Amino acid sequence: MPITPDLFPDFLLLNWLPDETLFSLVSRQHLLSGEVIASRTSERFFGGSRAGAQHDFPNRLATFVERTGGRLGGLQEVGLHRTLLNFYSAFITSQECAHAIECMAGDSVAHLKLRLGILTSRFRAHHPLKACPVCMEEDASSTGWAYWHLQHQYPGVWVCTKHAQPLLSSALKATGVQRFQWILPRQHELCDERTASQGDDLSGRLFRLAALVETLVQRGAREPLPMPQLYRMYRYAMLQRGWLTAAGSLRMNVIAKEFLEHIRPLRIVAEFAGLNHAGFRGGYLV
Ligand SMILES: [Zn+2]
Repeated sequence: MPITPDLFPDFLLLNWLPDETLFSLVSRQHLLSGEVIASRTSERFFGGSRAGAQHDFPNRLATFVERTGGRLGGLQEVGLHRTLLNFYSAFITSQECAHAIECMAGDSVAHLKLRLGILTSRFRAHHPLKACPVCMEEDASSTGWAYWHLQHQYPGVWVCTKHAQPLLSSALKATGVQRFQWILPRQHELCDERTASQGDDLSGRLFRLAALVETLVQRGAREPLPMPQLYRMYRYAMLQRGWLTAAGSLRMNVIAKEFLEHIRPLRIVAEFAGLNHAGFRGGYLV
């Protein structure tokens, strides 16, 4: 039987919650429908038994937009503001961004992570689903749903900047058949990824990092990051710290040591374990 947008009258089609991801909305739709088989929800919204179920970069967005009659936004809106492309778009060109949306609109996103530099970044290539336990309680109370917030999914964000709470993560989507499930955050399925207890100093660093990431993404949405200006700012800051020689060269041995010392506390979060390799190794920029 053909599936048409008529199967989704307004009263059955959920609307976006604030800062919600596409994966979250379809997971709510899955739960609300009483459907127990994930592939049927994928088929219904994305036209394939495993389609659309990647929580970071879903494929078949064109089918989703078509089957929801555009009532949840067009391809650009959904691709840019409801997936993790929202984060990466701040750091790539508009052409690259358009290409990413084109990929997600179609059948395969296989090469997208490579193209965006995620696979070669020396950080983890998967994006764990993350949630703030206080947001979950508040959301459940105010909307009836605990759901996935887009800002919490950004790489580098491990603290909810609204509640100054560490984010908990889910491993359910990382492996095997579960990769294609539709799930919402549930307290007992979430875990704290940090490998040690967290002191005030680290909490403060993670909070500042999360706030920085969110600000960068907001700013990047308005205009490209001003790279020449950033370059001048970094050089000026290095000069202030005595990290430049009289001839203006970088004192890499000192910079590397200070950098490693600065990022050392962050490495108790698994995502940041590669930081010391990503920046400097043995005193050299790599
Ligand atoms: Zn929160």
